[in-house]
Amino acid sequence: MSMSNDTAAKDGQKSARLAPRKVDVVIVGGGISGLTTARRLSQAGISVAVLEADDRVGGRTLSYEYAPGKIAELGGTWVGSTQDRILALAKELGINLFPQFNEGKTVYCYKGKRSTYSDTGWTGAAPPDLLLLPDLAIVTTLINQMASRLPPGEPWNAPEAEEWDRQTLETWLRRHTLSTRALKFASAAFETILGTEGRDISLLSALHHINGAGNAQNPGTFDRVIETRGGAQEFRIVEGAQQFSIRMAAALGESVVTSSPVRLIRQSEDGVHIESDRVDVEALHVVVALPPSMAARITYEPGLPAARDQLMQRYALGWLIKCEAVYDKPFWREQGLSGGALSDVGPAKLAYDVSPPDGSPGVLLGFVGGDEARRWGSRSHEDLRVAVIENFVSFFGPKAREVRDFYIHDWASEVWNRGGPIAFGGPGTLTGYGPALRDSVGRIHWSGTETADFWHGFMDGAVRAGERVAIDIRAQLKRSSQK
Ligand SMILES: Cc1cc2nc3c(=O)[nH]c(=O)nc-3n(C[C@H](O)[C@H](O)[C@H](O)COP(=O)(O)OP(=O)(O)OC[C@H]3O[C@@H](n4cnc5c(N)ncnc54)[C@H](O)[C@@H]3O)c2cc1C
Repeated sequence: MSMSNDTAAKDGQKSARLAPRKVDVVIVGGGISGLTTARRLSQAGISVAVLEADDRVGGRTLSYEYAPGKIAELGGTWVGSTQDRILALAKELGINLFPQFNEGKTVYCYKGKRSTYSDTGWTGAAPPDLLLLPDLAIVTTLINQMASRLPPGEPWNAPEAEEWDRQTLETWLRRHTLSTRALKFASAAFETILGTEGRDISLLSALHHINGAGNAQNPGTFDRVIETRGGAQEFRIVEGAQQFSIRMAAALGESVVTSSPVRLIRQSEDGVHIESDRVDVEALHVVVALPPSMAARITYEPGLPAARDQLMQRYALGWLIKCEAVYDKPFWREQGLSGGALSDVGPAKLAYDVSPPDGSPGVLLGFVGGDEARRWGSRSHEDLRVAVIENFVSFFGPKAREVRDFYIHDWASEVWNRGGPIAFGGPGTLTGYGPALRDSVGRIHWSGTETADFWHGFMDGAVRAGERVAIDIRAQLKRSSQK
């Protein structure tokens, strides 16, 4: 079964137009970020309308219930240490966490040779491959040192910003590694973490990502991005990650309008006028809680400042496809394996055990990103299914062929998402246009995870960005009421 977007079916589900509305603040985008802003403003007694293009809320989170109480996460999945804002929101909404299954050994495949290792050993999450470790140790140390020199949320203000934004991550890696093996594994990691290859992202943009993997008390580190223990993959959500948005939208009630893409934002001295497919709204402020490349698809009157438009043309989303195979039970656990795997052969070079909390049924996740997504995204889902199952067979043996169900979700094919998991800048983007990521344009405020100071690209960043914008707007509304 494939979970691709069926626009024709969705068009058929669209409801009739609603009467025009007048509110204090209109929010474009019903993902975690937009809904967090709406929740915080509404808690402060400020009236809101949330306009969501899709027929569901949740954006880059999508939890599919394939059996009663059993959820496949087709988008955002994990939360972890230092992600304080999403953890606080979970508590507030009564959402529960459970630890990512991580007992047993991880599989490592290189050039057709398979081995296993424990992530509690001296190399941590890295495979104990003597031809890989020296490069990995040097690169990780340097990357962490460089990332620590960035002011959180403002990488363009780092002393070396120009130099680091002039080169791609891959150029830098080639200069600082000895073995091609290190480049291969770096590529497997980037394909999953960023949905792209090291040649597409500037070194500064990659460092910005690492600098963000922390909080005000704990500087971001590369280890925290990739680790399960103490890292970004530490916990999963019992009820499914989409519940953050579903519960916030339920509390906001009729303020949230789905199946209503915003087409036009017209700004005047006194307010904003928003046109969407189902409803037009007048407001004092508008929050655009979309990744920049999706915000570029809206018409703005008057036109936006050139720097903002140039930024939206350059800050690109990655391409990530999630593939999940469901088995009667997690058979790999009986072999002492954690379900984690790392390989140089695609399409799925990275795998995880994503079985439900009670371990029944067994579910394996394979990430297909970057060049692999570009290669496989245009082929049939059946071809991709067969190829990913062969990856799983090479990791966990022939039992991996006994698949009960298989889900594919290609985020670049989703008309209202067009990619994932995150957006990033190529060379020159952050130093040339970085401040335009967040700088509001009159009554238009930019939000979404890409604008966060910490954990941008993650669900935690989406909450942080949403809360920042809510605070800014409250202050502005207070100032204008005092005039
Ligand atoms: C495959 C995948 C795996 C991921 N894994 C993780 C993970 O494990 N942990 C983690 O923390 N994060 C993960 N992420 C990232 C995380 O899901 C996102 O950072 C987060 O959900 C972004 O929230 P947001 O509200 O900023 O943006 P979005 O979720 O992108 O929300 C934007 C919303 O705007 C809507 N929209 C678009 N255009 C319009 C328009 N014109 N009018 C109205 N609405 C519009 C979209 O439909 C969408 O609902 C993953 C993402 C993907 C895709």
